[in-house]
Amino acid sequence: MSRNHADVIIIGGGIIGCAIAYDLAKRNVKSLVIDKASAVGTEASWAGAGILTSHASTHEPYPTLCRASLALYPTLAEELRAETQIDIELIQSGTLSVFFDSTEAAGLIGLADRRVKRGFSAEVLTAEQAWQLEPELSKSIAGGVLFPEDAQVRNPKMVTALAKAAAKLGAKFQVGNPVTDFIRVREGGEEHVVGVVVNGETYYADTFIIAAGCWTGTLTAQLDVPIYVEPAKGQIVLVETMPPLFERTIDGLGIYIVPRADGKVLLGATVEFVGYDKTATVDGAKQLIDAGIAIAPELAQSTFVQTWVGLRPYAKKGPLLGYLPGYDNVVLASGHFKNGILLAPITGQLIAELITTGQPSLPLEPFQPTGV
Ligand SMILES: Cc1cc2nc3c(=O)[nH]c(=O)nc-3n(C[C@H](O)[C@H](O)[C@H](O)COP(=O)(O)OP(=O)(O)OC[C@H]3O[C@@H](n4cnc5c(N)ncnc54)[C@H](O)[C@@H]3O)c2cc1C
Repeated sequence: MSRNHADVIIIGGGIIGCAIAYDLAKRNVKSLVIDKASAVGTEASWAGAGILTSHASTHEPYPTLCRASLALYPTLAEELRAETQIDIELIQSGTLSVFFDSTEAAGLIGLADRRVKRGFSAEVLTAEQAWQLEPELSKSIAGGVLFPEDAQVRNPKMVTALAKAAAKLGAKFQVGNPVTDFIRVREGGEEHVVGVVVNGETYYADTFIIAAGCWTGTLTAQLDVPIYVEPAKGQIVLVETMPPLFERTIDGLGIYIVPRADGKVLLGATVEFVGYDKTATVDGAKQLIDAGIAIAPELAQSTFVQTWVGLRPYAKKGPLLGYLPGYDNVVLASGHFKNGILLAPITGQLIAELITTGQPSLPLEPFQPTGV
């Protein structure tokens, strides 16, 4: 790879771009990751809660993709630890979903039944059984369902580890300036991109991957293909409790509570379609704190640490994985919405397979980007 030429240029160094760079590097394909921020992984991939959840039990393409990605995690965590000495804090603690009334109970128990019938695990618990597992749960809960396979990971550490491992295997990183333009030629009726412009300088490659999260549409618009990936704002509140309140992720009343290995507890997350606004609001924090205290009253005594906001990449039929319509060397990997951390390992693998062999190990047709 010369200074201004790579086999593959990846636009966007979030968890998706870095996972692809790592999987390409393992296949000896040299990539250049370009990110507009001053470091990789500072946007949604930093802000995410890191829950790896795979509740849906059907064999539809999306749940299949989620389960395939979850299954890659233990090996990936070991690989990253060996390559980078970074522990991504993969913990398979499970999720306990609590319900407060018969309507909520019906939905969750139905989900648990369907899972068990299809050979996946889920355990319906009485309120007493739930309190035995998690004594700090409110005395108002009516019961719960345990999903023991769910896990959590420390996503900021994971992006750093993926980037560091990819760099060790030859990937390059260029941060601090956005891709502002594409250099294109038309060959045999198909458009072909030959380069991208960053801060007035052109970088060339054989293949280009757009993994720019909720900014993906701005880039495809420059290629005359309208792809809608909208920002879905998510606010999180971080508190600290000592001793730790919970052993596992708790979810209920539209929020989740994630206990971290360091004693911090994360309350998340709002879902707001308000454009590229990253303001943390009192109302957002209040919703999360009120629901958190209703689930576990002792949370009212915890130390408030901070709030933050991230912009999830939402696509109506996401994720979008495959060639951009009309282009034979531009690939999209975006629109992972609420599950981008979960889906990063399988996305890295499938996109690397698509580029190197043309034969991804899971069909990408259901996720094929289409212009709108
Ligand atoms: C509050 C919240 C909670 C979440 N919780 C979870 C969870 O528990 N589990 C889960 O699986 N997922 C979760 N997610 C979703 C997950 O974080 C995202 O789906 C995932 O991070 C998307 O990764 P990405 O790499 O596509 O996008 P991003 O991380 O946003 O990365 C895109 C990158 O592209 C760069 N970029 C954009 N435009 C340009 C340009 N023109 N030139 C160069 N670079 C550019 C940006 O700087 C950015 O670094 C959560 C998200 C939020 C916000």
